[in-house]
Amino acid sequence: MSIHVKFWGVRGSIACPGAGTVRYGGNTPCLEVRCGEHTIIFDGGTGLRPYGVAVLKSGAIVDADLFLSHCHLDHVAGLPFFAPLFAERHSLRIWAGNLPPDLPLKTVLRTMMSPPLFPIDVESFRAEIEYRDFQPGTPMQPHPGIVLKSAMLNHPGGAVGYRIEYRGKVLAYLTDTELPSGAIDPRQLALAANADLLVFDCTYTESEIASRRGWGHSTWQDGIRFANEAKARTLCMFHHDPGHDDDAMDKIAQQAAAARPGTIVAREGLALDL
Ligand SMILES: [Zn+2]
Ligand SMILES: [Zn+2]
Repeated sequence: MSIHVKFWGVRGSIACPGAGTVRYGGNTPCLEVRCGEHTIIFDGGTGLRPYGVAVLKSGAIVDADLFLSHCHLDHVAGLPFFAPLFAERHSLRIWAGNLPPDLPLKTVLRTMMSPPLFPIDVESFRAEIEYRDFQPGTPMQPHPGIVLKSAMLNHPGGAVGYRIEYRGKVLAYLTDTELPSGAIDPRQLALAANADLLVFDCTYTESEIASRRGWGHSTWQDGIRFANEAKARTLCMFHHDPGHDDDAMDKIAQQAAAARPGTIVAREGLALDL
């Protein structure tokens, strides 16, 4: 039990709360990953808001590294609502890879949080925040003992996939990526090689993707092909299409588990120990 993962948002593209998404959840991507005492957060979608509420309620102090897959709204919209950012005692290092040199992360977030789009600006945050731009590909050590590797994915405007290695366990997080029908990029496969848990973009079904090629997302069948090629142990389907209600997700979950035994579907509140 060395890597602890909790899903706070699992939905792609746009939040979709309502009676039809109660069981799997309607919030957009946010994962809490704990490696011992250290916390890494993947993506700041709308799931980041309930995570912040839970942290404050527990009395814990946030001292974490938040790695963004990319800056599409479904992955950053929760940041202005992450309550710990408005209290001085917390600290957060926000990382983004592959942004253009003239559009560093702080500029991007400053744009999102500016009138007429948003009423308050990034200077309103009271926590200690560092905005860190990086080039994917070079292994990093966000904390002693934690190795974090990254690579570019196939997504309009680019997205970054991640691999965490900690105490012999491996978590791979590859979302917002479209699997090519031919050979898979070896750098992407390397991220997920022999992973204990592979969280992968499984937005669509085969019939849906036919009209959505080039949108930068994969099907659950793609997820299985990728997991098999990478020899990942458990595939966790992620970034669900907002049009898939709980009944549709049940059906997909059943089909995927039959096709690759052990396959699981991410849902809000799911917690796993690797
Ligand atoms: Zn997305
Ligand atoms: Zn995207």
